[in-house]
Amino acid sequence: MAEASYDVVIIGGGPGGYNAAIRAGQLGLKVACVEMRDTLGGTCLNVGCMPSKALLHASELFEVANKEFGTLGIDVGTPKVNLPQMMKQKAESVTALTKGIEFLFKKNKADWIKGKGKIVGKGKVEVTAADGSVQTVEAKNIVIATGSEPTPLPGVAFEAGKVIDSTGALSLPAVPKKLIVVGAGIIGLELGSVWRRLGAEVTVVEFLDRITPGMDTEVATAFQRTLTKQGMAFKLGAKVTAAKSGKDGVELTVEPSAGGAAETLKGDVVLVAIGRRPYTDGLGLETIGVTPDKRGFIDHDHFKVADGVWVIGDVTHGPMLAHKAEEDAVAVIDTIAGKYGHVDYALVPSVVYTFPEVAWVGQTEDQLKAAGVAYKKGKFPFTANSRAKINHETDGFVKVLADAATDKVLGVHIMGPQAGEMIHEAAVTMSFGGASEDIARTCHAHPTRSEAVRQAAMDVEGWMMQA
Ligand code: FAD
Repeated sequence: MAEASYDVVIIGGGPGGYNAAIRAGQLGLKVACVEMRDTLGGTCLNVGCMPSKALLHASELFEVANKEFGTLGIDVGTPKVNLPQMMKQKAESVTALTKGIEFLFKKNKADWIKGKGKIVGKGKVEVTAADGSVQTVEAKNIVIATGSEPTPLPGVAFEAGKVIDSTGALSLPAVPKKLIVVGAGIIGLELGSVWRRLGAEVTVVEFLDRITPGMDTEVATAFQRTLTKQGMAFKLGAKVTAAKSGKDGVELTVEPSAGGAAETLKGDVVLVAIGRRPYTDGLGLETIGVTPDKRGFIDHDHFKVADGVWVIGDVTHGPMLAHKAEEDAVAVIDTIAGKYGHVDYALVPSVVYTFPEVAWVGQTEDQLKAAGVAYKKGKFPFTANSRAKINHETDGFVKVLADAATDKVLGVHIMGPQAGEMIHEAAVTMSFGGASEDIARTCHAHPTRSEAVRQAAMDVEGWMMQA
C-alpha cells in the first residue's frame, strides 16, 4: 500500500495536537493527527480540565444548596448526592466535547489516524492501531504533542481505588470518608474541594511550607485560610515517604520535610497529586537523535527540535496548561506555514477553579521583590464590592501591581468567585503594554465583580473610591 503523505503529522490529540491540526487545516496544509486514545481531546478533555470542572460545578451547587439556599429564602429540604448521576452527566459532557473535536477535524479536513505513533526516522511516523495493524505515514513536518502523565511518588505505589492519581479521583465509585491529598497544587486542591463538598474529610499533605507554589504568597495565604474555613485540613512542610494499604484503607508515613520524627496518617483513599511529567514513551526520539532533558522535557528553539520536527504543549517547557498548549499549537503551525509564530509565556493566565476561584496573570509580588523591581500596589477587597455583597460572596480581593515609574501593569491577582473570567481584562491590558490607569479610567458596568479590578487599579494611584 502506498504511504500516505502529509505536510504535517501531529503526534497527540490533546489541546496542543488538536488545535495544531485545526490551524493547519485552516491554513490549507495537508494534516493528520495521530492519537492512541479512543477519543480526541487528550488529557484536558478526557481526564483533566473538563471532567474536573464538571465535578467542581456540580459539587459547588450541592454545597450552595446545602449551605446557602436557606439564607436566600429557598427551601428544598436536605439535598442528597446522587454520585452515579453526577458521574453520568460528567461523562456525557466529556463525550459531547470529544465528538466536537472530531467535527472540527472534519470541518478543517484534518485526518485522525487512530493508534500509537512512533517516529521511525526523518519524516516518517509509524502508527500501530489497537488491533495491532501498522501503517507508516510520511510527513514534511512532525509535531510532537504527546503531553504528560501524573508523576508517581517514590515509595507510594498506585493501587486502584485506594492510592490513586487525578484520573482515579475523577471517577471514585463512592465518597470516601477520609481522603488524603498528597500535594497542595492546583489539581490536588480542585479535586480535594470536590470530594470535601460531597462529604469527605480532606487532609492535604504538602512538602513545602505553603500551598500552590507559583501563586502570589499574599494570595496563597488568604486562599489557604478560606479553604481551611471550608473544612479542608493542611499538613504543610511534610513529606510522605511510604504507604501501606490494607482492608481498612491506607496508612501513610509522613515526616517533616526538614527532618524529624515520622507519624502515620490514615485515609480511605489517597490522591497523589504532586505534579505531571512529560510523556514520550515509545516515541522513537532516538531515531532522530533527540534526547529529552533530565526531567524528560523535549527542548526546542522556537518549537523546532530537529529538521522537520517540532514540539508543543506539556511535553516541552512552560506552564503545563491547556491554553498554553493551544498557544504553542497556533504558533508552531503558523511558523511551519511561513507566518510569524509567537507565544508570550509571561502572559499565560493561571486559574484555580475552586470556590472562590484564584486567577492571576503576570508577575507576583514575590517575583518583583526578588528581581528588585520598583512597583506600586493597588488592592480592593470584595467585601466592598456591591455585587459580591449582594450575592453574599465577599471572600477575596483584587491586587494590581504596576511599575513605579511607568505605571505599566506587571501583574494582576484575583481571589473571588469567577476570578477566572475576570482575569482577561488584565491579560488584554498587559498584552498591549497598558498602564493601571488604562484600567482605572475604563468604564466598568455596575454592579459587577469586575468593578473590583477597576477599584484596585485606581488604588495604584491612590484614588480608590469605594473602600
Ligand atoms: P495532552 O492533553 O496530555 O494530550 C496528549 C495526547 O497525546 C494524549 O491524548 C495521549 O493519548 C496522546 N499520545 C501520547 N503519546 C502518543 C503516541 N505516541 N501516539 C499517539 N498518541 C499519543 N489545564 C488547564 O489549562 N486548565 C485546567 O483547568 C486544567 N485542569 C486539569 C485537571 C486535571 C485533573 C489534569 C490532570 C490536568 C489539568 N490541566 C488543566 C492540564 C491540561 O490537561 C494539560 O496542560 C493539557 O492537556 C496539555 O495538552 P497537551 O496537548 O500538551 O497534552
